[in-house]
Amino acid sequence: MGVAGRMAGGRRRVAVGVVATVVLGLAAACAGNPPAAQKALSTLEATVASLSPGGSPSPSSTEDGQVPDGVTLSPFDTKAAAVRNLDPALLAALRKAAGDAKAQGIEMSVTSGWRSKAYQQRLLDKAVAKYGSLEQARRFVNTPEKSAHVSGKAVDVGATAADYWMIQHGAKYGLCQVYANEIWHFELLTTPGGTCPAPLADAAG
Ligand SMILES: [Zn+2]
Repeated sequence: MGVAGRMAGGRRRVAVGVVATVVLGLAAACAGNPPAAQKALSTLEATVASLSPGGSPSPSSTEDGQVPDGVTLSPFDTKAAAVRNLDPALLAALRKAAGDAKAQGIEMSVTSGWRSKAYQQRLLDKAVAKYGSLEQARRFVNTPEKSAHVSGKAVDVGATAADYWMIQHGAKYGLCQVYANEIWHFELLTTPGGTCPAPLADAAG
């Protein structure tokens, strides 16, 4: 690699650090102002993913399950690992819901779906660095062992209008909001048409 290449690499690492810091700051703000913070967080998380060294140039999601910057990932994308590796029952419910939402003028996208253990660990490591302890970080990011994203049984939905649509109508498809501080995170927690359990306070709950 030439001098120019090394310099570009250095700038890229600096950019990753800055963006990661902003992301984690926004994560902290999520509990206070979920809709605005979530939109910004999704965008910035995607930016971090695209800047990460070794990131795949895959168009809609890396093989780790990261969704690159600027990508609006459809629940009907069959190539993206983030969607492809979701639990089949969850994916079917999500697609049904997305179709019905669209018919009502609400566009639904996947901001994060399946994640590899390594990707989940990186998210947790960043949160620990930010909050200073695993205990605090766990309020926002789960461990690879516990995260339903790693088992393909959780999906983060955007944009904000779609989050609220899903909170209101998700139970019809068995999809429930799991954490009070994450309006975008849904899992299959009831039978279609059933009643969702009350959300937990946060991911540590
Ligand atoms: Zn989630």
